[in-house]
Amino acid sequence: MNYETIGIVGAGQMGTGIAQVCAAAGLTVVLSDVDESALERGRERLSAGYDSLVSKQKMTAGDVAEAMARVKATSHSAALGTCDVVIEAATENVGIKHQILRELDRIAKPGAIIATNTSSVSITRLAATLADPSRFVGMHFFNPVPAMALVEVIRGMQTSDATFETTVALAERLGKSAIQVKNAPGFVVNRILVPMINEAVFALQEGLASADEIDAGMRLGARHPMGPLALADLIGLDTVLAIMEVIQREMGDTKYRPASLLKEMVDAGYLGRKTKRGFYSY
Ligand code: NAD
Repeated sequence: MNYETIGIVGAGQMGTGIAQVCAAAGLTVVLSDVDESALERGRERLSAGYDSLVSKQKMTAGDVAEAMARVKATSHSAALGTCDVVIEAATENVGIKHQILRELDRIAKPGAIIATNTSSVSITRLAATLADPSRFVGMHFFNPVPAMALVEVIRGMQTSDATFETTVALAERLGKSAIQVKNAPGFVVNRILVPMINEAVFALQEGLASADEIDAGMRLGARHPMGPLALADLIGLDTVLAIMEVIQREMGDTKYRPASLLKEMVDAGYLGRKTKRGFYSY
C-alpha cells in the first residue's frame, strides 16, 4: 500500500507536529481543519518548528522552503480525497471523531488507510463507524511530535495486516520507532504512565512528601528525566484526569480511581502549565 500523500484532520498541536515530520520526510501533506484560525496558527507553528531545526542546523533554509511547499492547509475536507493515508488528529471527543470518520468514509480514496491519533478512544469502536473497518488503525504519536521518537501502532479487532504493516512502515519512514500494540484502554504507554502520575498525586495528597521531593525521588531514584508531578503539569491535569477516567471505566477496576486531589485541582482550573498553575507555579 502506498503512502506518499498524507492527509491530517485537525491542525492543532498534534496535527501540526505530524504535518511537520511528514513534510520533512518528503511526503505531500493535506492539513485540514474546520477552523480557519486554527489553520493559520498551524501554519505559524509549522514554520516556527522548522525555524528551530534550521537554528540547530538540522535543516537548511532550502529544505524548509521545500517542506513548507509540500503542505497544503485547507478547510475544504474534499482535498483529503487525494490522500493515501488520512490521520485523524482532531479534538479528543468521540462525537467529533465519529462525525469525521463518517465523512472520511465517503471522501477517502478506495483502499486509503484511515488512522487515528486518539489517546483514549477504542480503535475497535471507531473502526466500526467505517464501511470497511479493515482499513482503520491507531497511530498514536507523542507530544511534541517532532521531538518524540515513539509511535504506538494500534491494531483494532478489524484492522487488516496490510493496513497495520503499512502504518508501521509509514512511522519508520517518519524516523520514528513503532511499537505494535493491541487495542486496550490507554494502549501501552498511557496505561503505565498515567496511573504512575496518579499514584504520585496520591503520595502528595497523603502527605508522604512534598511535590518537589516526590519529583526528585523519581528523577534521582528511577532516572526519570522529569518528575511525575512536573510531567502532569506539562501534559495538563485535565488530560491526565480524562485518561485516568477512561482507564478506570473501561477496566472496571477501582485500582485505577483518580486521586481526589487531581479532581479538585481540575475543578479549581489549576491545569498545569497552560493555566500557569498546577503542582507548580509558572
Ligand atoms: P488540539 O485541541 O490542539 O487540536 C485539535 C484540532 O482539531 C483543533 O484545531 C480543532 O479546530 C480541530 N477540529 C475539531 N473538530 C474538527 C473537525 N470536525 N474537522 C477537522 N478539525 C477539527 O488537540 P491536540 O492536542 O492536537 O490533540 C488532537 C488529538 O491527538 C486528540 O485525539 C488527542 O487525544 C491526541 N493526542 C494528543 C496528545 C497531546 O499531548 N496533546 C498526545 C497524543 C495524542
